[in-house]
Amino acid sequence: MSRTGLCARRLAQTPYCNKINKLHPRHLQPRGFRSTACWAEKNTTHSQRTTPAQVKSAPGNAFSDIAFAFDIDGVLYRGSQGIPGAREMLRSIRAKNIRYVFLTNGGGAHEDAKVASLTKRLGLSPDEDVIRDRVILSHTPMRGWADEVKKQTVLITGSHPETARQIANEYGFSRAVTPADLIHDNDELYPFDNLKDTLHSELRPLPDGKSASAITDPYSTEIAPDALRIDRILVWNDPRDWSLDIQVIHDLLVSHKGYLGTISPKNGNSSLSNNGWQQDGQPELWISNLDLVWKTEYPVNRFGTGAFLEALKGVWSAVTHGAELQYNALGKPSQFTYDYAHTRLLRHYSSIGSTAKDSAKADATTLRRVYMIGDNPESDIRGANEFCPEDGTEWVSILVKTGVWQETAAEREPRYKPAVIVDDVVDAIVWALQNEGVDASRSWLLKG
Ligand SMILES: [Mg+2]
Repeated sequence: MSRTGLCARRLAQTPYCNKINKLHPRHLQPRGFRSTACWAEKNTTHSQRTTPAQVKSAPGNAFSDIAFAFDIDGVLYRGSQGIPGAREMLRSIRAKNIRYVFLTNGGGAHEDAKVASLTKRLGLSPDEDVIRDRVILSHTPMRGWADEVKKQTVLITGSHPETARQIANEYGFSRAVTPADLIHDNDELYPFDNLKDTLHSELRPLPDGKSASAITDPYSTEIAPDALRIDRILVWNDPRDWSLDIQVIHDLLVSHKGYLGTISPKNGNSSLSNNGWQQDGQPELWISNLDLVWKTEYPVNRFGTGAFLEALKGVWSAVTHGAELQYNALGKPSQFTYDYAHTRLLRHYSSIGSTAKDSAKADATTLRRVYMIGDNPESDIRGANEFCPEDGTEWVSILVKTGVWQETAAEREPRYKPAVIVDDVVDAIVWALQNEGVDASRSWLLKG
């Protein structure tokens, strides 16, 4: 393939990105179907490779300007089973003082719970400093939202809405409401009660004495002072009760300024943008990630938060006669999430081996290249390919075969093409280190 042809293809994949101008010359090579060994052998530009012994004896940190971002599901484990070699690989790069984070679209739990879960699944000791302070969940970037946003009244839903609310409270959201609060406050809001005593059994009073029963005339311009107004909708992770959640989200998106039980007079007005839908101060809708599917031990991929969004879009299109659903997304491939991860990596280097408190104080240390290792072309690979951090750091995507993406007769190539496809996460690190000019191998890496 000619360089011109390749550039055109890459630019078509990354329409918002001028990254092609910053790429290392090696990345003007055809992407996606090289063997690990072949790629490193033929394309290294280092005049002399660094041997493993040289790396070990090098003064300071030989890898101070590279880093890794690992997806978790399908990369480090699948279902309850750790990927062979993943534990030893992590210990090895930790010992080499290489920066890394775990960037997952998973969520619905606190970051510390994910650290404990990952530690256990990989068979690491709880006191090993390999995972701690490095996990970024789909909703973690909300930690950094402005205080005025955290003071708003937000509707939170997800797999376990009460757990999501507790995490949101810990992030600083002080007025978080769940669907359970609403259906217990107003029996008529949802005409089915089969999950009321199970999934929706935990509830709290609505904030500031507000009520979900205050509106009786949906078109009245007189809004009762105790009427509940929602400022923002946060889909924390994949909901379990799609029926209730779609109903409540719909109700808020057709409302007048987010007052539950109202209907905006602007809906369907063809003289307005988007035919008047979501043009009347309705709450912003935020989806924590767009993953349509994820990988478990079951042979067929399972639906994720993105599947819920597609269902919501379908209902919204039917209700509005084809209006676009306006929403914002976190998680991969959102550039907001990659930017958050990049900042964490920049600040993490000088904190290695120290406490989280020290980490917050650490000065940012520059990066030259970050390798994103994932199993999902639509999120992991796409996000890394399209991310162009302001400091010019190059993000390089590596796709592993242990998760969502599998080569089939119908899909020989992933839609979003990585720099390379490798068998597993160990090979991914070996390839990356070879790409940095190190004469790395699996056995060398796994020895620590
Ligand atoms: Mg994954």
